[in-house]
Amino acid sequence: MPYQTVTFEDGTTEEYDTEALSAGAEGEIFRSRSGKHLVKLYFSRPGYDAERMQRIKTLINDVNPTKNAPYWEEYFSWPEKLVIRPRIGFRMRFAQGLRTVDNFFFRTYYERVLKPDERGWFIGRVAAAIKIVNAANRLSSSGLCYPDFSDKNIMVDAYDGRMTLIDCDSITVPGRISPTVQGTSWYRAPELVKGSLTIPNVRSDRHALAVILYLWLLRWHPLNGDKVHDSRDPDRDEELRLGERALYIEHPTDRSNRAQGQPYSARILGNEMSELFRRAFVEGLFDPGRRPQPAEWQEALWHLYDRVIPCPTPSCDWHSYVAAPTRGLACPCCNQRIKQPTNLPFLYLMRHKGSSNADDFQMDLMRAHYVVGWPERTLNAWHFKPNASSLPPAPDQMPDIAAKAAFDYDPHKDQWYITNLALPEARSSGPGGSAGVWRTWPVNSSLPLVNGMLLQGGPGTEYFRIKVHIAQVA
Ligand SMILES: [Zn+2]
Repeated sequence: MPYQTVTFEDGTTEEYDTEALSAGAEGEIFRSRSGKHLVKLYFSRPGYDAERMQRIKTLINDVNPTKNAPYWEEYFSWPEKLVIRPRIGFRMRFAQGLRTVDNFFFRTYYERVLKPDERGWFIGRVAAAIKIVNAANRLSSSGLCYPDFSDKNIMVDAYDGRMTLIDCDSITVPGRISPTVQGTSWYRAPELVKGSLTIPNVRSDRHALAVILYLWLLRWHPLNGDKVHDSRDPDRDEELRLGERALYIEHPTDRSNRAQGQPYSARILGNEMSELFRRAFVEGLFDPGRRPQPAEWQEALWHLYDRVIPCPTPSCDWHSYVAAPTRGLACPCCNQRIKQPTNLPFLYLMRHKGSSNADDFQMDLMRAHYVVGWPERTLNAWHFKPNASSLPPAPDQMPDIAAKAAFDYDPHKDQWYITNLALPEARSSGPGGSAGVWRTWPVNSSLPLVNGMLLQGGPGTEYFRIKVHIAQVA
C-alpha cells in the first residue's frame, strides 16, 4: 500500500497510509505505518488554519488531561503533536483492538459486525462504563466540555473493560475554545434540541452521559418509547421525542411512552442506578441543574461492579449479572436461576459517622454499598477505607490496586471464607455483632463467613466496618 509523509511542527516526519481509516465532516483519519498512531488531517478551509493550529496547541499544552498523568493516558486519544503538512492536523495514539460503542447497541450490528469474542460480557460493560464516567469526570473537573460525547467517539473492549475517548479535538473550554460541533442528536439535551440553548455546556454534557450509560448497560434509548408525536413527519417526531416532549420510557407515573421492545428495565441494575436514571430523565430532563454529576455515577457504578456475579449458562449473552439478597435470584438475560451456591455473602460497608463515639458506624440505606462474595473475587484498599480510591491520588501517581482480601467457597461444607491477603491490622468480631470483642485476623489466614459477623481492615474509624449478611438466594 502506498504511503504519505506527514510533517509535524517540530520538523520530524512519519509515514501514514494514503487511504483514510474514517472521515467526518471536518477531516480524515489515517493510520501510521507502524500502527501506533493516527493522524487527523483537516479538510482545507481557507482562513481557518491559524485558528485550528491555535486550538490544537491549546489542547496539547494547556488543557491536556494526560500531561504528566500516566494513569489517564489510556483513557484519551488526546492530540499529542501538531501536523503542518500535507494539511493541518494532529497526531494521536491508536487505541488498538477497541471498537466504537455504537457497534454494541443495535442487534444487527452486534450480531453481524462483532465477532463472538468481541461481544464481551456484562461485567466488562460495567467496567467500561466506570471508565467512561471517570473520563467524563476528569474532563468536567478540569472545566472541559465534550459536546460530541457520543457512541462514535467512545472505543471499548467489552471483555476487559478498556475504554478510550477519541476525537478529543471537539472538546471545548467555555470562554476559551468554542465548539465546532453541536453534538450528535441522540445525545443532545432537550434544551439543545429545542434550541433554547445553542452552545453545549457541562450540564448538557451530563444528559449525554446519562443517555450513553443507559444505552450501554440496558441497550435501549431512554426516551425512545412507543408514543408517536408526529405520524406524518419522522424528523419532526424525533425532534419532539428528544426535545420539547421528551418523556422517560420508565417514568414512574406517566406511562404513555413505555417501549414494548425494551429488553431490560433499569431496575435490574439495583436501586442506586435506577434512582440516578430517574433523576437524569425525570427531574433533570428539563431542569439541567438536577442532572446527576459524573462523580455520582462513578460511585454508583463502583457499587454496581461489586455486585456482579457470573451466570452459569454457557450460551448466555451477558455471562454475568447483578446479584441482590433475594430468593430465586436469576440472570435477567437468560432467566436461569442460581443453583449453586445456594447462599451468598453480602458484605455491607458502613462508614463512621464522624461523632466522638468510636462505634458509631452507619449504613446509608438509600445508597447501601455491599460487595457480593464469589470465589476468587478480591477486595481492594477502597473496600476497607472510605478515603481510598481506585483512581490515582494525584495525576502523576498510580492507584493502589493490589488485592487486600479474597473470597473462597467450599461446596462440600457449603461454607464461605474470606482470606486476609495484606491487612496487617485487620480484625473480626461476632457473630452476634458484638463490636466490643475483637479478634485479630492475621494476614494469610481465612475466616469462615457467618451471618452477623463484623470485619474491619484496621482498628480506627478511618476504616469501614463491614457487616456480613449471608442470604439464601436459590
Ligand atoms: Zn445468563
